[in-house]
Amino acid sequence: MLTSLTRWIDSRKRERALRRHAIPDALWAQTLANLPFLTWLGDADRERLREMSSLFLAQKQFSTAHDLELTDEICVAVAAQAALPVLNLGLDLYRGWVGVVVYPGEFVIRKTVEDEDGVVHEVVQDASGEAWEGGPVLLSWEDVQMGTGDGAYNVVIHEFAHKIDMLAGEADGRPPLFKRLHSDLTPREWEDTFDNAYDRFCRRVDSISDRRWQQFADTSLIDPYAADHPSEFFAVCSEALFVTPQAFEAEYPELYRLLARYYRQDPAGVLPPAPSAA
Ligand SMILES: [Zn+2]
Repeated sequence: MLTSLTRWIDSRKRERALRRHAIPDALWAQTLANLPFLTWLGDADRERLREMSSLFLAQKQFSTAHDLELTDEICVAVAAQAALPVLNLGLDLYRGWVGVVVYPGEFVIRKTVEDEDGVVHEVVQDASGEAWEGGPVLLSWEDVQMGTGDGAYNVVIHEFAHKIDMLAGEADGRPPLFKRLHSDLTPREWEDTFDNAYDRFCRRVDSISDRRWQQFADTSLIDPYAADHPSEFFAVCSEALFVTPQAFEAEYPELYRLLARYYRQDPAGVLPPAPSAA
């Protein structure tokens, strides 16, 4: 009885959120036109993405920095790209925080990092995005607009992949596996495939001579920055899965399959169809 009452309340809340945050046709069409890499997403999934973007807008609080005017265009562009990775997992994976802060361009972040000798340093760096554990996601609007599919770069997918990774504590490239979503994936399988791919990538990056570095950085599908930490490798490969799925699958077939099974989406269309429930 209680369960059905809770479900009824949930569905009323959902309907209200969908109504209040409905995305007008023209704005939705413009948002999708700015994300041409989404050709692989079918009509029914596009409609679900639109609904999920509305629910995302209802659950999160947007603000801007440095006098950037907050517009519907900004909010919907971020919401659509943030909803994409969790389209088949649910917005619940973004629970526990509400803020999305949008900067006009790159912004400066200060953080403390501990080096190998245990000495703590303050680091100041330019960032196009940042996800805080239990806190907001920070994004550069200029960079959000660059994630259109020209290369695998997509700062929104990157930062929201970090958010998923952080659900299980500090980001470490081991996003949580849920029984109801990932019954066919074991932590062991994740570690075997992911760690193996990460180690291979790091070895490859290490082997590039200074002379060839720029050329490698310019042409590599996976940004060499991904060798920094397993959490970065997970976030950068998540961008590639959704933005350049065919190229990613061709170059990293095992990793592609692992991530496709994790996100329960197959943008390159290579996985066998899921067994029908009938
Ligand atoms: Zn990152």
